[in-house]
Amino acid sequence: MTPEDATRKMQFLFQLRQKGVTDTRVLKAMEAIDRGGFVQGHFAARAYEDMPLPIASGQTISQPSVVGLMTQALSVQPRDTVLEIGTGSGYQAAILGELARRVYTIDRFRTLTREAEARFAALGLTNITVLTGDGSFGLPDQGPFDRILVTAAAEDPPGPLLQQLKLGGVMVLPVGQSDAVQSLIKVTRRADGAGFDYDEIMPVRFVPLIDGLPRD
Ligand code: SAH
Repeated sequence: MTPEDATRKMQFLFQLRQKGVTDTRVLKAMEAIDRGGFVQGHFAARAYEDMPLPIASGQTISQPSVVGLMTQALSVQPRDTVLEIGTGSGYQAAILGELARRVYTIDRFRTLTREAEARFAALGLTNITVLTGDGSFGLPDQGPFDRILVTAAAEDPPGPLLQQLKLGGVMVLPVGQSDAVQSLIKVTRRADGAGFDYDEIMPVRFVPLIDGLPRD
């Protein structure tokens, strides 16, 4: 690592802490996964700034502080199986892979899932499975999941995802209309099976969760 790289890394982590990412396991995971490897072309130079950036298929890689705060809210445990809806660049999934035993991530765009899969292979991240499909239905065959993270906004938490959450499990997702400010919420499935608890975390802005598959 050059001295410039070291300074950049320190600033990146400092920014995260300043925005409220204080969980040491999350910070360690975000230190281990280089965001620069998930952003292409001339935007790569801005990979260490706290801003969302465009990726292929008209989508975006989320802002690092939002990734950190979402991951922190999810409180992933080392033995957990995690489902992520909205692979995008694969950056969030790679961080989840550092914290969990196994990660399944799904996106509608084959272009994105192919690229993400190639990145995971190149980085030797072997506990992440990438799938192409409509994530609103979850992955009934692989579930139930300890943790579910949705990185695109739905109007309400999709029913199949609630059903695929283990008892005591946690789901974090943005909800609300796509053209307005949305709320990041945390849904906890009660351990005794008596329903769900909902907590609002913060206002966010995500691309919409879209039904069906594109023709790419
Ligand atoms: N987590 C990503 C950023 C996600 S952007 C990262 O770390 O880079 C939101 C993603 O959700 C987009 O790639 C979009 O294609 C995907 N998406 C939207 N609706 C979806 C659906 N129904 N099923 C699966 N993926 C969906």
